[in-house]
Amino acid sequence: MSTQISRNTLADGREILFFHDTDSPVAPLAEDQRSAEPRPSGGQLRFDLLTGEWVAVATHRQSRTHLPVAAECPLCPSAPGRPTEIPAADYEVVVFENRFPSLGPGIGAVSADPSHNFAEVAAESALTAPAYGRCEVVVFSSEHNGSFADLDTARARTVIDAWANRTRELASCAGIEQVFVFENRGEEIGVTINHPHGQIYAYPYVTPHTKVTSARAVQHRRETGRALMADILAFERRSGERMVLESAHFSAFVPYAARWPVEVHIVPHRQVLSIDELDEAEREDLARIYSETLRRIDGLYSTPTPYIAAWHQAPVNCEDRAAEWLHLEITSPRRAENKLKFLAGSEAAMGAFVGDVSAEETAARLRNVQPRSADSMPAAEPTNEDGHR
Ligand SMILES: [Zn+2]
Repeated sequence: MSTQISRNTLADGREILFFHDTDSPVAPLAEDQRSAEPRPSGGQLRFDLLTGEWVAVATHRQSRTHLPVAAECPLCPSAPGRPTEIPAADYEVVVFENRFPSLGPGIGAVSADPSHNFAEVAAESALTAPAYGRCEVVVFSSEHNGSFADLDTARARTVIDAWANRTRELASCAGIEQVFVFENRGEEIGVTINHPHGQIYAYPYVTPHTKVTSARAVQHRRETGRALMADILAFERRSGERMVLESAHFSAFVPYAARWPVEVHIVPHRQVLSIDELDEAEREDLARIYSETLRRIDGLYSTPTPYIAAWHQAPVNCEDRAAEWLHLEITSPRRAENKLKFLAGSEAAMGAFVGDVSAEETAARLRNVQPRSADSMPAAEPTNEDGHR
């Protein structure tokens, strides 16, 4: 049986979807009792002539909710006299359109590069587009306190099904070029609401990072006939030194050239391009290995570690489908109990990273750490120098 979905509309017209765990009863939908405030009009995209990248400008976001106490949390269930963003007395996993989106609410196409004819870009209007796209909030639980790592496997699985549903649906919208599923966790990296949640951005262009990695994957396949990530997986599994966890369908490892003090990539063994292509067995397996990785990252220090968990999915209209490979990158700037890595001149201005710890050291710490929870998976066996277990 698969996750069930109920759809509703909030008072101001935003879409909301309820994803139900397979074994729990589906509650009837309630109406949003709030008066309909007008939605902020969309922001702007401005084209940076120097880098060839679009920059979203969303000035209305300055007034958004900032670190509310639990009694004022917009992601908690609604209670009599206290309507929240979610018109339900309880829920499992909920996705709704962000009230203060960087992209949207309009969806449409924008030019990949409006500067190709420079004679025509003298006008600002040629370098400006509506900030088309969609920003969604994914609420992992009705519990205000906790995090993804605290979800049981069934609930983690429901979140994965929600990600898959949103990826497929948003990728099918005209003009959407990339769907980015992610979670920011921790006030240290700018989280404005502590209630466990993630986000989804559907962009009308391919992001700068994905342009680079996608071009490399295409070139690698042209030269070798193989998918680049297949070769990276083989390289990491053969070495074993940086491996953290291995399951039937996924490997979790610290990449050879890790940039961050804590960095783990989780890669499916089978080539899929996006979360919605993962099959039943892979989603079950992912629910376990992802949660376990987060519990190990949280076990490194006495307090929860801030992180960004970023799903790298293939662009919607990618050049070579056989070159692309879905994966998750979890990164944290935390380099000691009370120290964060800040991006200074070399990283921030040049994009040239200087790492503080070796990938092998980080992997060993994550293999040996006591995960912050009882039901944990065994770590991958470190290999000796001959590559034997
Ligand atoms: Zn809350």
